[in-house]
Amino acid sequence: MTMMKKIGLLGSTGSIGRNVLRVAETHPERFCLAYLTANTRVDELIAQSLKYRPQTAVIADEGGYAALCAGLAGTGIRCEAGAAALADIAQDGEADVVLNAIVGAAGMLPTLAAVKAGRDVALSNKESLVMAGELINHICRTSGARIFPVDSEHSAIWQCLGGEQDRDVEKIILTGSGGPFLRRDLSTFDTITPAEALRHPNWSMGAKITVDSATMFNKGLELIEAFHLFHLEPSRMEILIHPESIVHSMVQFRDGSVKAQLGVPDMKVPIQYALTYPEHLLSDWPRLDLAAVGTLHFEQPDLRRFPALELARSALEKGKTYPAVFNMANEQAVGRFLKGEISFPQITHAVRTALEAHEPLDSLSREDLMSLCKLN
Ligand code: NDP
Repeated sequence: MTMMKKIGLLGSTGSIGRNVLRVAETHPERFCLAYLTANTRVDELIAQSLKYRPQTAVIADEGGYAALCAGLAGTGIRCEAGAAALADIAQDGEADVVLNAIVGAAGMLPTLAAVKAGRDVALSNKESLVMAGELINHICRTSGARIFPVDSEHSAIWQCLGGEQDRDVEKIILTGSGGPFLRRDLSTFDTITPAEALRHPNWSMGAKITVDSATMFNKGLELIEAFHLFHLEPSRMEILIHPESIVHSMVQFRDGSVKAQLGVPDMKVPIQYALTYPEHLLSDWPRLDLAAVGTLHFEQPDLRRFPALELARSALEKGKTYPAVFNMANEQAVGRFLKGEISFPQITHAVRTALEAHEPLDSLSREDLMSLCKLN
């Protein structure tokens, strides 16, 4: 008999969060929701809670607590508020797997809390691994917790590595679409507006990752994420532009053989796999029609167009707290770009300046990382 899996869903009101709920409702015999969390969108959190009936609903922004309690009065659903409540529920909530779909550095402490308690984490919040990958892996080794990647590229690599031996792997190849500005005249980059950067050609995602895809900071974050998930030195991880987003990533073996994982760009597929690994559950989502796609293109990334890729590689090679600064500086700069305070190229400039000014910390304790978050 197949067991019902209880999902603790952090960030249920976001793009990934909503897709997780779609996956859960596709298989009501397999999944239920232990808890749901949001930051400010309290009305959506209430509506989701009324529909999916979790034991607990958490609103990170304490200003939404009264509305949450009023909206869920009489349902028996427990209401909590505040950032600390997110880490508490990730640690103590009755979930078989924690799916972390919070955006940005705010997702790091809940990931740490979950793995510390020995809970498996289906991780969409790549920023957790970028900032605290070594610490998370160290805690996992002692607590027995496992990290299952949700990011489509890492899910692809994970699937390609299935049944293979570490020593046979020559390199991994992360693909990226190149975003909306792959062909745009470089001399016009300083006129790029937030609305233009928010128009991704293939994927529908939250605002931050959409801008990160336009700068390719997202691929830089994914490079660092891959390092912590698959333990390959940076020189054995390549990035390749693939505008169609059909080949989600590849692994090359030492005999020259290459395995790729393909599919339509739909996050429900890697989300479901992270929840059901090693099983692929039957779903009626759109199938890939390669004859209709016709042609797939690949090209080397132009580093003048996407300087974020070199910054990410350099932060990864320097290690210590550089990747955390890479992430925090980008997060802050993207926020400012979206508010119209800085131009598109200034995002990269801000990250480069922060990395150059950074005095790295040798130890990567939870406290160090927390203070780093506060500093930024
Ligand atoms: P969204 O912006 O759509 O959603 C983010 C979620 O996190 C929302 O539920 C939001 O709540 C919550 N949240 C935001 N800030 C905080 C905070 N300070 N404290 C607690 N909760 C917070 O993001 P996405 O779903 O696009 O992305 C989520 C993560 O998944 C990111 O790390 C992203 O890189 C990664 N990812 C996303 C993909 C995608 O297709 N979208 C693909 C691969 C990875 P509220 O709604 O109340 O603001």
